[in-house]
Amino acid sequence: MLNAKVHDLLNQQINKEFYSAYLYLDFSNYFKAAGLDGFANWYMVQAQEERDHAMLFYTYLQNENATVTLEAIGKPDKVFDAHMDVLRAGLAHEEYVTASINDIYAAAYDVRDFRTMQFLDWFVKEQGEEETNANDMITKMELFGSDPRGLYLLNQELAARVYTAPSLVL
Ligand code: MG
Repeated sequence: MLNAKVHDLLNQQINKEFYSAYLYLDFSNYFKAAGLDGFANWYMVQAQEERDHAMLFYTYLQNENATVTLEAIGKPDKVFDAHMDVLRAGLAHEEYVTASINDIYAAAYDVRDFRTMQFLDWFVKEQGEEETNANDMITKMELFGSDPRGLYLLNQELAARVYTAPSLVL
């Protein structure tokens, strides 16, 4: 049986991952409206991955015979003045999610919940990749974003991202 605190944190993470999906849908919508459909595609794929993350926590709780409580998903309410602001908000959000995953890991560690720790190992690695991706986006935008031709090519590059299902299967 799951420790009450670990259970609660895992359940909260379902909501945080769905919020992440919602946030990236909002980013995608921002770039679609700005005419940058490659950026819009990149964040659409990101939103799909976040939904997968939510479902992994959902399924993990079910597999542990623990109750799942679905809470209301927050409204993405940021208004952006510049493309770079969106990218920076993405990095800040991933850093927040990394801290959240680490908090669950620490709670599981405290009660020697090795199964939850093993489940979370995938997310620890995944968050490293998410932060790298978010940082790369910012770096590329800094390098090429101020030049219209650079932005055009960067948009084309991001248009090529395709969704793949997560490597973790429960
Ligand atoms: Mg996620």
